[in-house]
Amino acid sequence: MDKYETVKKIGEGSFGKAILVKSKQDGHQYVIKEIGISAMSSKERQESRKEVAVLANMSHPNIVQYKESFEEGGCLYIVMDYCEGGDLFKKINSQRGALFPEEKILDWFVQISLALKHVHDRKILHRDIKSQNIFLTKDGTVQLGDFGIARVLNSTVELARTCIGTPYYLSPEICENKPYNNKSQLLGSRTSY
Ligand code: ADP
Ligand code: MG
Repeated sequence: MDKYETVKKIGEGSFGKAILVKSKQDGHQYVIKEIGISAMSSKERQESRKEVAVLANMSHPNIVQYKESFEEGGCLYIVMDYCEGGDLFKKINSQRGALFPEEKILDWFVQISLALKHVHDRKILHRDIKSQNIFLTKDGTVQLGDFGIARVLNSTVELARTCIGTPYYLSPEICENKPYNNKSQLLGSRTSY
């Protein structure tokens, strides 16, 4: 952590904290996710390290860019680019009911679809697609982030069975406890296929 100066805390989740920092090396701002791993079981610790491995393997204009990670004082730190526009959930709320133009929604939809294709082509299921995990950069690009509960499949057609996610965004298969695959992740996930 001595390579970074803390600017402020920007998020707090079940995992720990999201902190905005400034790099002493390049002067740029980054976000560091701090995950307390010392009290975890070794299985949970492995899961946290998996988030790092998943994110580190991605490189796409519509996926939050990973920078580095390290472990220090019982915590795992994941350094990534800062998305200055915050998350889409906050952006939607700040509209106070005013609608976005249709072109903007379609543009965001296409960008997230491209990000998901990149993820699925690498046999990874994100498993928590929702507006809180979609980030806006300062130039208006949207990026998918928070691979905290992502799952790596052995093959692209393998069906996963674990029931996980955020209740409002669950696909019908997951609600009905049926096996699911990458199709469960189409945005909205309410269409039949
Ligand atoms: P979790 O959902 O597991 O708590 P997230 O990675 O979604 O963890 O981070 C929590 C919150 O912190 C986000 O909803 C967002 O508001 C903020 N945040 C996280 N990463 C970034 C980032 N790269 N840029 C800007 N804000 C971020
Ligand atoms: Mg999140």
